[in-house]
Amino acid sequence: SGSTSNNIVLYWHRTDLRLHDSPALHAALALKPSTFIPVWTWDPHYVYRARVGPNRWRFLFECQNDLSKSYTKLNSKQKLWLVREDPQTVLPKLWKKWGITHLVFEKDTDPYARERDEAVVRLAEEAGIEVVIRMGRNLFDPDDLVRKNGGKPTMSMTQTEKAAEKINNGQPDRPVETPKSIPDPWEKDRMDLSDIEHEIADPTPDLNAAHRGTKDKQYTQIMGPNNDFSVPTMGEIGIDPSLATTPHRGGESVALKMLADYTADEEYIGTFEKPKTSPAAFEPQSTTLLSPHLHFGSLSIRKYWWDVQDIMTKRRKAKKTNASVPVNLPGQLLFRDMYFAAQAAIGAPFARTHGNKVARVIDWHLQSKPLQSSRNDEDAMEDDDGDLPARDYEIDSLEAEEWFQSWKIGRTGFPWIDALMRQLRSEGWIHHLGRHSVACFLTRGGCYVSWERGAEVFEELLIDHETASNAGNWMWLSCTAFFAQFYRCYSPIAFGKKWDPNGDFIRRYVPELANFDKKFIYEPWKAPIADQKKWGCRVTNDDNAVDGTTYPKPMFDFDKQRQICLDNMKRAYDVRLHGNDEQVLDGSWKKL
Ligand code: FAD
Repeated sequence: SGSTSNNIVLYWHRTDLRLHDSPALHAALALKPSTFIPVWTWDPHYVYRARVGPNRWRFLFECQNDLSKSYTKLNSKQKLWLVREDPQTVLPKLWKKWGITHLVFEKDTDPYARERDEAVVRLAEEAGIEVVIRMGRNLFDPDDLVRKNGGKPTMSMTQTEKAAEKINNGQPDRPVETPKSIPDPWEKDRMDLSDIEHEIADPTPDLNAAHRGTKDKQYTQIMGPNNDFSVPTMGEIGIDPSLATTPHRGGESVALKMLADYTADEEYIGTFEKPKTSPAAFEPQSTTLLSPHLHFGSLSIRKYWWDVQDIMTKRRKAKKTNASVPVNLPGQLLFRDMYFAAQAAIGAPFARTHGNKVARVIDWHLQSKPLQSSRNDEDAMEDDDGDLPARDYEIDSLEAEEWFQSWKIGRTGFPWIDALMRQLRSEGWIHHLGRHSVACFLTRGGCYVSWERGAEVFEELLIDHETASNAGNWMWLSCTAFFAQFYRCYSPIAFGKKWDPNGDFIRRYVPELANFDKKFIYEPWKAPIADQKKWGCRVTNDDNAVDGTTYPKPMFDFDKQRQICLDNMKRAYDVRLHGNDEQVLDGSWKKL
């Protein structure tokens, strides 16, 4: 029936920028609100303390705009109401001003989010407001997976699959219905917030200041009063829109269309095997590129899983061959759940080595300082090269610091690595095996630099950045956790060549090498000088021109470096068996 209650419901959007299959939104509407207000609150943690590059900002704004339009389509009085203040301080003001009876949101198990939500729930209870929380961000509630895994972090797919079996025979819940109508908000006068006092959060340290032209402008426009509740523009938050170069678009409409296009191709869905998809494919890429939509919740992971699973069931009945877990698409989605559950069990230390009980201690260069002795990000310095400041770390090798900086900007002299790092910077996304290549190269298969340095760069540049997946995969690739076969290493030359012998991917992302013969495109330093001249690019370290006429020589002899890494890894693993972490960290294992 269309009858309503006296419930005045505040719906708090965070990880769920969608209307379809949102268990939390569904629960909110089931309260049959007389008044319904869907809000987004800018969180200073996201605005100042998370590393967010221009591409991810834009993706987020696109998701918000799309969702807002979808609300308006269902009810012309509605939109996504953006409020520019810390949730802990602004929500109580909204409850009062709008006479809220119920607060509803999607469960978020990220360590910071848990802390914030606990605080908000306490405040709501004090104010006599009923709080409704629903899981919808994962296939399975990460806390349930942990419980079914004996209270331990899920450290393998076998463990994750077994735990999922115990929840619902390994099947997530079916999607819930998409709302067909949305109740009204308050009338204009009561929605108006110009009479409430805004508290502007202290913007220091502001890890994202470097992206903005006018540093003193800070984020006052994103965090200050916003009486029209609008989605900010790039300009409003001080970021030059031309810095957001990604071709990948945000928003629920885009995500649903992408998923529908993939599922229309049943052969693609049924035969998808991750290890057989090419990291060198672009336009189109070889995998689904739905990860940023899962991150922002513009696509429901359960809808994704079921749409794919239903096709696979149909094909099985028709006796068509399907790929199986973990290489198929449902397996990919379960990998995401594995990392979420591992993080849910470990908490905040999951994203670093110190205090993280699943992380193997390895004597990397450029290690983070332990939390207690570090600046704790409080007074993190700003680089003047426009990059975001790093977490405080020990520069124990100037050479490694230089390698790290060259890796970051895609000037290592290894075209495969540089092409990937430049694709990451300009587009905010690279293929999984591309991520494997650059992560292995930075850590145990090249530079021997701490995985935390790499994870930070990914945090800034990825449009799909997800704390659990990022830290988890970096630990996997660096053999810090999840995976231990450190003798299996990616060659920055042979691996790419296998997928793309002509080097089209390199020609695209390292255009200065576009004219090189395919014989030399992976190792341009081997090309005769006369050819280099003919092809319009010299391989040299003599001048630092980044004008497309030169390309750097390789920053080290890869084979030599790989051997050094292997020897170090072997010792670090031995010490773990026969010694202890301190010996690894203080270097005394070298004398063992
Ligand atoms: P598809 O192959 O189409 O897979 C479908 C979905 O499954 C993805 O969208 C993703 O949500 C999930 N998925 C697939 N593989 C993984 C995986 N190994 N771990 C977790 N989820 C997975 N993924 C992120 O979403 N955020 C990150 O911050 C992130 N950081 C990474 C860092 C490193 C060093 C590595 C090696 C991998 C990282 N990944 C991360 C995992 C993976 O590379 C991406 O999820 C995937 O490439 C996204 O592209 P896709 O949507 O086309 O994937």
